[in-house]
Amino acid sequence: MTRVLLLGGTTEASALARRLADARVEAVFSYAGRTESPGTQPLPTRIGGFGGAGGLAEYIRSAGFTHVIDATHPFAVQMSRNAAAACAETGTPLCAFEREPWTAGPGDEWRHVADVGAAVDALPDTPARIFLAIGKQNLAAFGAKPQHHYLLRLVDPPEGPLPLPDADALIARGPFTEAEDLRLLINHRIDLIVAKNSGGAGARAKLDAARLHQVPVVLIDRPAMPPRRVARDVDGVMAFLAHRADLGV
Ligand code: NAP
Repeated sequence: MTRVLLLGGTTEASALARRLADARVEAVFSYAGRTESPGTQPLPTRIGGFGGAGGLAEYIRSAGFTHVIDATHPFAVQMSRNAAAACAETGTPLCAFEREPWTAGPGDEWRHVADVGAAVDALPDTPARIFLAIGKQNLAAFGAKPQHHYLLRLVDPPEGPLPLPDADALIARGPFTEAEDLRLLINHRIDLIVAKNSGGAGARAKLDAARLHQVPVVLIDRPAMPPRRVARDVDGVMAFLAHRADLGV
């Protein structure tokens, strides 16, 4: 019998949870527990880390999962490494549900950088108003360029003072529309956006708004993931679960 562990925290994971529930596939949805009130899922849900790759392997064994779907964010590299290691250890088939990265089109002014440190280096020396659209992790690195005003968009209110001398935080949960993000760029007089190349539709609006308003973007490339089978859409994951060997590794 198929029993699926779905590692979530993305719009794609929630879409897959709906499909699994509709298809009456037995599955457990797992959240890291990073946000205060994670969305409700149509599957039994657990919240919190497993205690590394070893803890995950133990959980897979004890709960009897036959398949693991890694539908975590493309920047959640630790969880993805742990999933690959635990699945290798337990001999459990693993499939990542991974969105295509965004690619620039006509009118986009994007500068690609390898990581957060390179994004900090790419900022100008003269003071600017920067929309730092990277979530709540890695903010402190931008303290190396304290001359800028930073606008943050966070899911939950910050627990303590922001680690940047001149910053405002908007509290909002995506997905956002192009019109909303265009308003944000205009109202906050944004000169530059820093974003992660997350891919997917839910976070794309800021890049479309940037093109319309001719705001340059510093786009952080994805970290390298372990070798694994990848599906690009819900149908691809369902095919994997049906044991069809039509997915590349
Ligand atoms: P990470 O650095 O790769 O993972 C750190 C640790 O958090 C993992 O080792 C694991 O703890 C735990 N963890 C992560 N995802 C989990 C899940 N779905 N279920 C149970 N435990 C999980 O991850 P992250 O970048 O902090 O992201 C955390 C969550 O936020 C993920 O679910 C991800 O999909 C979501 N998210 C991340 C980003 C981003 O930019 N990184 C953006 C949007 C959403 P143990 O080692 O104890 O098992």
